[in-house]
Amino acid sequence: MLEPAYQADVVIVGAGVAGLSAAHRLTSAGVTTAVLEATPYAGGRMSTEKIDGFRLDRIGQLLSTSYPELRLTPGLDALALRPFAPGVLLHSDGRRHRAGAVPSSMSTRRARGALHAVRALASAPRSTSVRGVPGQTTLPRVRASAPLGTAVDQARLGAALARLASAPVERLLARPESAAAQALAERGLPARTIDGFLRPLLAALLCDPELTTSSRCADLALRAFASGRLCVPEGGAEALPELLARALPAGTVHTGVRVTSVATTSVTTAEHGEIRCRAVLLATDARTAAELLPGLRVPDFHPVTVVHHTTDEPPATGASLLLDADRGGPVAHTAVISQIDPSRAPAGRALISSTVLGTPPPDIDTSVRMHLSRLYGTSTTRWETLAVHHTPEAVPAMRPPHDLRRPVRLLAGLYVCGDHRDTSTVQGALHSAHRAASAILTDLTAAGSLHRAEPLRTAA
Ligand SMILES: Cc1cc2nc3c(=O)[nH]c(=O)nc-3n(C[C@H](O)[C@H](O)[C@H](O)COP(=O)(O)OP(=O)(O)OC[C@H]3O[C@@H](n4cnc5c(N)ncnc54)[C@H](O)[C@@H]3O)c2cc1C
Repeated sequence: MLEPAYQADVVIVGAGVAGLSAAHRLTSAGVTTAVLEATPYAGGRMSTEKIDGFRLDRIGQLLSTSYPELRLTPGLDALALRPFAPGVLLHSDGRRHRAGAVPSSMSTRRARGALHAVRALASAPRSTSVRGVPGQTTLPRVRASAPLGTAVDQARLGAALARLASAPVERLLARPESAAAQALAERGLPARTIDGFLRPLLAALLCDPELTTSSRCADLALRAFASGRLCVPEGGAEALPELLARALPAGTVHTGVRVTSVATTSVTTAEHGEIRCRAVLLATDARTAAELLPGLRVPDFHPVTVVHHTTDEPPATGASLLLDADRGGPVAHTAVISQIDPSRAPAGRALISSTVLGTPPPDIDTSVRMHLSRLYGTSTTRWETLAVHHTPEAVPAMRPPHDLRRPVRLLAGLYVCGDHRDTSTVQGALHSAHRAASAILTDLTAAGSLHRAEPLRTAA
């Protein structure tokens, strides 16, 4: 017997952020929707484990305040984002240096002016003071021995980031495409800027230590970095899907329901048999999507491990994201995350969250601790390990040629969304859902089966 509550205009398979945001757009347009989720909870990869007052994310911590879909997705108006300190801290040769802070007020013209000024300064006698150089105060301050090299190198980087921040997306997508590592080497940037800043930053943003990702996706990631601030959702990654789920009409999301096959007008579930509908939206991870619809491509994946530690003596890096430019251990990036979002740790305790990219070493706890000790310049022997979250298929690889607007409409009645249809990020997952919901609404309207008169009531 089918439960009547499960009959809907659109059945969405998967309650990650893509499925939930698509559901929000559809129900807001008056379309009845059932979201079927195989696991006991909504949120997919954006989950947060709660242990002894700590909130421990499974995902790495790198969203950007400039992700357009965080602003455009209905239901996320109340999302609180906690920003990192501007730019990043780079660890190199036993020292830490701040770099990459691009104030939003810094226009390309000002950045170019700063570059000319610093170039002039570099050719002046060594004793010349840098004070009073127009635009100089807006550039990252790095000593000559810093990983970014000379003041001219830094000014160039500041100008390049400012240019990227204001570049139209279409222009970036029209650039020739190659692997990010190759494109970096061919763009005439100083080796210090590449190895000391761009390589570790891009590895962190793309979860790709070898930079095999499409250069277009790398440009988009750098653009998001330069035009906003890295940030985390207040309360943990799960805050985002929770907000979306809470804004849906009561009874829309059904957890513990695994879909075993899909068609244009029905899905079959392991628990409730066949459920009939007018359209099906597949919003699972890439591998499950291809199992349910064998024509779909299964990409390679980047594995990611997130390690959480606590201590009562937090390292003095403030709210910064710390990257290892030396690649001197397994940790790609780390932060005292409780300094950025105090709600993630109980009073008196600090939470340090660190991300390991690629296949983790077998002795992960020991090697991460030793690496963190060097990165933070403090002993970690008394730090307590709270959790090690390893996700083998964390992020779909985006090797060139990468189509970051993969079709979301397969047939009238059958649609697919998720990070594997766009960029492999929260922004990509939300954007693919936006595109899929629009395609469904267009088809339902054309078929005359969309009655917009009475939008559904939302849950309290
Ligand atoms: C360790 C890690 C680090 C990351 N770091 C970042 C980062 O720093 N920045 C960033 O932007 N992104 C990051 N990501 C990626 C980001 O988390 C994902 O892009 C995003 O969460 C994908 O959402 P989704 O809705 O497309 O898929 P998912 O979250 O995978 O949701 C799919 C849902 O479908 C359900 N499902 C699967 N099969 C079935 C079935 N047969 N029936 C019913 N339901 C089913 C699943 O249980 C799941 O809930 C990271 C991910 C991981 C794992």
